[in-house]
Amino acid sequence: MKIEIEKDAGFCFGVVNAIEIAQKELSPDEPLYCLGDIVHNEAEIKRLEEAGIRFIDKSFLPDIKGKKLLFRAHGEHPETYRKVQSLDIQLIDATCPIVLNLQKNIRKYYEEAQKNNGQIVIFGDSGHPEAIGLKGQTGEKAIIVSQPDDIQAIDFARPVYLFSQTTKSGEQYEVLADNIRKNMKAGVSLFVKKSVCGQVANRAPKLRRFVKDFEVIIFVSGRKSSNGKYLYSVVKEVHPDTHKITSPAELQSAWFEHKKSVGISGATSTPQWLMEEVKKTIEKLCISKN
Ligand code: SF4
Repeated sequence: MKIEIEKDAGFCFGVVNAIEIAQKELSPDEPLYCLGDIVHNEAEIKRLEEAGIRFIDKSFLPDIKGKKLLFRAHGEHPETYRKVQSLDIQLIDATCPIVLNLQKNIRKYYEEAQKNNGQIVIFGDSGHPEAIGLKGQTGEKAIIVSQPDDIQAIDFARPVYLFSQTTKSGEQYEVLADNIRKNMKAGVSLFVKKSVCGQVANRAPKLRRFVKDFEVIIFVSGRKSSNGKYLYSVVKEVHPDTHKITSPAELQSAWFEHKKSVGISGATSTPQWLMEEVKKTIEKLCISKN
């Protein structure tokens, strides 16, 4: 049985960086708090909780006055920075530098848009922390487009500055930009800013190539990962014999009967160690069958 993990699967640079910073800051003498899940993967969150990180939501901020708090890779809303400062919380900002740069760019173009009656439009998931932080750079004025129909909120007679959440698909972003372009009134500008992260932009085509070489595909992803949902749909479309799991315990031996090859992949929020565990479990299942 050939069992392989896709070499490009797993955490993006921003998540690796945030987890490394968190691990360095951990100390037995002082608690380390993290605002929201550091990554949308339940197994990795459990591992980090066991290592000592306490994950909290914003309502808990007044209870950690003066304590250490980590901002994860997705970035935060300007209001959260103000709140943290007012409470004398020791901030460890692990926002991905690419997201910080995107926030800065959105602020800059929002200023420009105010001068020419333009609009900032962001392709993102409205409840996603990164999208919330990006919208916050525009005083909540940006239009978030999650679904194709959401473009109806755009005024096509006014200039549009289009951005994307970094974790969105490059292919879907191009489709959206084309749709907006078709609707723009003659002579009105559409500025499409390249803001899908290079680490995720090419995942879909790479994944399609990878799955061709295997009879069964196991896709490992947390339930909340938007990137995981999208990449799973990409794989399922080209390879119907694909199973999405969150942990090795969900594997079923029947999936591997009479099969000679299994490919394993995952979202940009899926840890490498989890995919290795999935591989080992499949090996055991197949040995016990023979
Ligand atoms: S997807 Fe890219 S920009 Fe977003 S956190 Fe990961 S490395 Fe940073």
